[in-house]
Amino acid sequence: MNKGLLSVDEALAQLLSAAKAVPDVEEVPTLEATGRVLAKPQRSTMDVPPMDNSAMDGYAVRLSDGNVLSVAQRIMAGAVGGPLAAGTAARIFTGAPIPPGADAVVMQEDCEVKGEQVILKKAPKPGEWIRRAASDIRKGGEILQAGKRLLPQDTGLAASVGIKTLPVYRKVRLGLFFTGDELVMPGEPLAPGRIYNSNRFTLRGLAETFGCELRDYGIVPDSLEATREVLRRAALECDLIVTSGGVSVGDADFVKPAVEAEGRLLMWKIAMKPGRPLAFGEVGKAFFIGLPGNPVSSFVTFLIFVRPFLLKTQGLKDVAPREIAARADFDWLQPDPRREFLRVKWNAQGGLDLYPTQDSAVLTSTAWADGLLDNPANQAIRKGDPVRYLPYAELYR
Ligand code: AMP
Ligand code: MG
Repeated sequence: MNKGLLSVDEALAQLLSAAKAVPDVEEVPTLEATGRVLAKPQRSTMDVPPMDNSAMDGYAVRLSDGNVLSVAQRIMAGAVGGPLAAGTAARIFTGAPIPPGADAVVMQEDCEVKGEQVILKKAPKPGEWIRRAASDIRKGGEILQAGKRLLPQDTGLAASVGIKTLPVYRKVRLGLFFTGDELVMPGEPLAPGRIYNSNRFTLRGLAETFGCELRDYGIVPDSLEATREVLRRAALECDLIVTSGGVSVGDADFVKPAVEAEGRLLMWKIAMKPGRPLAFGEVGKAFFIGLPGNPVSSFVTFLIFVRPFLLKTQGLKDVAPREIAARADFDWLQPDPRREFLRVKWNAQGGLDLYPTQDSAVLTSTAWADGLLDNPANQAIRKGDPVRYLPYAELYR
C-alpha cells in the first residue's frame, strides 16, 4: 500500500544525519540567556549553600544545654553570629548562618519567650532545621549540561553560583517564503479565487517559538525565475530555508526545479497523513526544507520534521519529542494506510477527544487541539484503547 513512500522515521533519520549545530558560540549575559542553547557544560565554583544555615525563623541551640536558655545574640540573614556560649540560644532567622556550637534550630512556634529567656516546648532532634553547607551543590559539580535550551530556572541556577555570562550557540538564521499566486495578506482585498496566506503566520510563529533569527521573504509568485531569485538571496543569509507550497508536481509547482537549478534536492513522498510531499536539499551553505502548502500539513510537517532538524542545528542534544501513553475516548474505525497525526485534545477525564474533521485543509482542527495523536498505519482505534499522544507543550519545547 505504501510502495514508493518513505516512512516518517526514515525521513527523520536522513534529515537528522545531515543536521549539525551552528559552529559559532557567543558569550551572553546570564540575565539574557533564557531560551538560548548552552554550548559548554557549567560547573559550580562554590558550595551551595556556602555555609550551614537556618531553614526557619527560630532559635539556634545546643542539644546538651537543656530547654531553658538565655537569648544571647540575634543573627539575621546576611550577618555572622559568634560561638554559642554554654546555656545560651541565638535568635536566628531563615538563611542566617548557624553559629559555631549550635546543633539544631527550634522553630519559633515551638518556643515560649519569657523576658531574656526562651523555653523550648519540644526537644529538638540533632540537625533539625539546619540546611547543611553543600547539601544542594558541591564545588566543582556540574550544574548545567551542554546542548540544553536554558529555562528560567536554569539561568537562575547559574546565577545562584555567581555565573555572570554563559556560552550559547548563536541563533539559527531561518528563512521563510510562501509560494502561491493565490495568496494575499490579511488587510488586502480578497479577490475571487484568492486565499489568505495563513501559513505565514503559523510558520513565523513556530520560528519565533523556537528562538530563531527570522528572515521572512514573504509571498513568492509561482514562477521559476522568482523562486530561483529568492532562493539565491536566502541561501546567502540563512542556515535553513523553509518554504510552504509548490512541492507537489503540478504545473504551478516550481520549488523542485528551482532548488535543483540552484542546489541539490531530494523529493520525498512520505507515508504520513497529513503531509505526504516533502522536499529536502541544500542551496549554497543553507539547508532547504519544502513543506506542503496545505495549512494543516505545513503545521504538522514543521513539527515532525523541521522542529528536530532545527533543534539539532541550534545545538540541542535531545531533539526527539517524548510521546505520552494516553487513552482514546473515541472510535476511529477507518484508519489510513499511512501513519496519521490526528488532532486531539486532552479532556477532564484524562482521555483524548478527537476533532471531528481531520481534513488537512481544516486549520480549525489545529487550533482546537492541544496535541497530536501518533497513530500507526492501518491501526483502528476503539474507545478506551491505549494510544500515543504528542502534546503541543512537548512539541514546542
Ligand atoms: P500547494 O502545495 O502549493 O499545491 O498548495 C496546497 C494547498 O494549500 C492549496 O489549496 C493552496 O491554496 C494552499 N496553500 C498554499 N500555500 C498556502 C499558504 N501560505 N497559506 C494558506 N494556504 C496555502
Ligand atoms: Mg501552490
